[in-house]
Parts: sequence; structure tokens; C-alpha cells
Amino acid sequence: MTDDKQKLAAKNMLDTYLKAHRLRRTPERYVVLDKVSEATRPFGVDEIVQAVAEEGFLLSRTTVYSTLALFVKCGIVRMHRFGTSKSAKYERASIADGLIHLICSQCGKVKEVKDPALTASVTNRSYSAFHPAHSCLYVYGTCSTCSRKNRKTRKSEKTTHNTNKKK
Ligand SMILES: [Zn+2]
Repeated sequence: MTDDKQKLAAKNMLDTYLKAHRLRRTPERYVVLDKVSEATRPFGVDEIVQAVAEEGFLLSRTTVYSTLALFVKCGIVRMHRFGTSKSAKYERASIADGLIHLICSQCGKVKEVKDPALTASVTNRSYSAFHPAHSCLYVYGTCSTCSRKNRKTRKSEKTTHNTNKKK
């Protein structure tokens, strides 16, 4: 799907949901949707507050937070809680559902990779008495930067240990 088509699909999802739940089509909801549609990486509430402010809309964190919660219900975005991070991250469902999220347990950095075979095998699986709708895949480990740091720390620990021995 092209970006424009995805934008339109997200707008339709929101329209349908608001109508079905008799909620108001407030301009704020559509401004937030616009910004969400432009995001290519997972984002936090603050990033959206800032992005809409640049368009001249002053929305509180609470408003953005509740709008994003609404988008989660519509299936437009997925909410992530990466590792031990206290604040939630959001990501467009159309992006998140096809990716594996590699999360560093040390620094919290998130790298996203495509693994179509694995994604397909999870999506196409059937479970008894359960209807899967979507899935998000997380793999925890150590990123290359932290691995390098760990190696350095280990090396310097060894050196200190050796010098201590000599004394
Ligand atoms: Zn790391």
C-alpha cells in the first residue's frame, strides 16, 4: 500500500469507529492521525504533542494520550512497552505487524527487522478456542554497541585484576 492509501485506510478506520461508538469527529483526532500517519518509527506521546504544536495545535499530553488509546482500539496503532521502559511507544499497525522488534535489555534501543517467514508462520497459526487478530514480535538481547562496551569493560577488569596480582 502506498502512503496515501495507508493514510486513507487509517482515516476510514477512525471514521467507522467514531460513527459506530457515536463519538465526535473532533479536529484534534484528525490532526493527531495525520502526524501518526507520517511516523515511520515507534513514537511516544511527547513526539506527537510536539509535532501537532508545529502545526499550531496546542494539545495536552492527556488529550494525545487518550487519542492514541482510541487509535489502539481502532487498530490503527499498536502500543509497545519495550523492555523496562515506563513510557509506552506507539507504532502504526501497518508497520508494526510485519516487523520483529529487537530490543536491547541494557540500553533499551529498539531495532526493527523484517522476517516475513517468521511473521507469516505466527500469523497463519491457529489456536483452539482463540481467533488471532494480529501479533507483535519482540526479541530481547544485547545490541552491538552494548556488546562492544561489555567486551571493553571485561578487558579492563582483567587488566586491573592482573595489575593487582603483581602488587
Ligand atoms: Zn544496547
